[in-house]
Amino acid sequence: MERVLVTGAGGFIGHHLVKYLTARNYWVRAVDLKEPEYEKTAADEFECLDLRRWSNCVQATRGIDHVYNLAANMGGIGFIESHKAEIMHDNALINLHMIEAARLSGIEKFLYTSSACVYPGYLQKSPDVTPLREEDAYPADAEDGYGWEKLFAERQCRHYNQDYGLRTYVVRFHNIFGPLGTYDGGREKSPAAICRKIALANEVDEIEVWGDGQQTRSYCYVDDCVEGIYRLIQSSYHAPLNLGQDRLVTINNLVDMVATIAGKQITKRYDTSKPQGVRGRNSDNTRLREVLQWEPRISLEKGLEVTYHWIYEQLVKRGRIR
Ligand code: NAD
Repeated sequence: MERVLVTGAGGFIGHHLVKYLTARNYWVRAVDLKEPEYEKTAADEFECLDLRRWSNCVQATRGIDHVYNLAANMGGIGFIESHKAEIMHDNALINLHMIEAARLSGIEKFLYTSSACVYPGYLQKSPDVTPLREEDAYPADAEDGYGWEKLFAERQCRHYNQDYGLRTYVVRFHNIFGPLGTYDGGREKSPAAICRKIALANEVDEIEVWGDGQQTRSYCYVDDCVEGIYRLIQSSYHAPLNLGQDRLVTINNLVDMVATIAGKQITKRYDTSKPQGVRGRNSDNTRLREVLQWEPRISLEKGLEVTYHWIYEQLVKRGRIR
């Protein structure tokens, strides 16, 4: 039986990935600073370790065949815009130590989760943006802070592959969403924040939207995300690969979709002083289709429906909705 390590397994995608892998009969060690918040882990072993520390990375990788390195200090646009030093410091330490520990522990495969935040700002200035191809990451002008650190860690994977023969895999996520993700507290991302605001709203109400609502993104449901990760690590493709959907929607569209799911009449109050990120961002999935013979397939409507109902139930459980 193959033994795998998932770091960041107390977090959103890591927790889903652990479930996916244990269901496929892998023996899974899960590592994070904290256990999953909303549901018990499915891992065979869960270790609370701070992966900024070298000795903990060595401990985490002992006796392991494959590493899925998801641990990162991160959050939505509100968080990453205001914590750049901390994000770069923590994530650089995690990523440098994890890949070196993986090499020394004789790990066979190492998967790193990068982000669409590596793409240059100069290609994302319009809402009807051209979908981003993997090679568009250069000449680099990544998102300042979080995006630059991701780009650096991507290159680290490439060099470990070239210099040491470590089989590295790099996936660039485009806005992953779904149940069991953070929905309040400042680290939440746009789909979760919008679901929360609408769940807490009256039948006829107004909610605050960051920016003018015309900014565009594509969103990918978490079940597709973990399947894509798994397919990639089975492949022999070692360059960065987009993983997302290529259906572009505005934030206004997203609000309207969630309002329809909730059956509420919602109007929008725009706060243009709030961080909005790039003006438009979409994934070009040409290479994803070629490499994986597959692409994400769960519709945004379906994914939002599941996510909205999960967030609604959480708010009821916590006494915030009566
Ligand atoms: P998340 O914040 O839910 O999970 C990250 C986990 O890493 C958290 O549980 C956190 O406690 C853990 N962590 C942070 N510092 C740590 C440390 N020092 N030691 C051990 N664990 C530590 O985020 P997520 O959405 O599940 O993201 C997983 C990965 O995917 C991250 O690398 C993230 O940058 C990347 N990513 C996510 C998205 C997205 O849309 N969710 C988009 C692009 C990239």
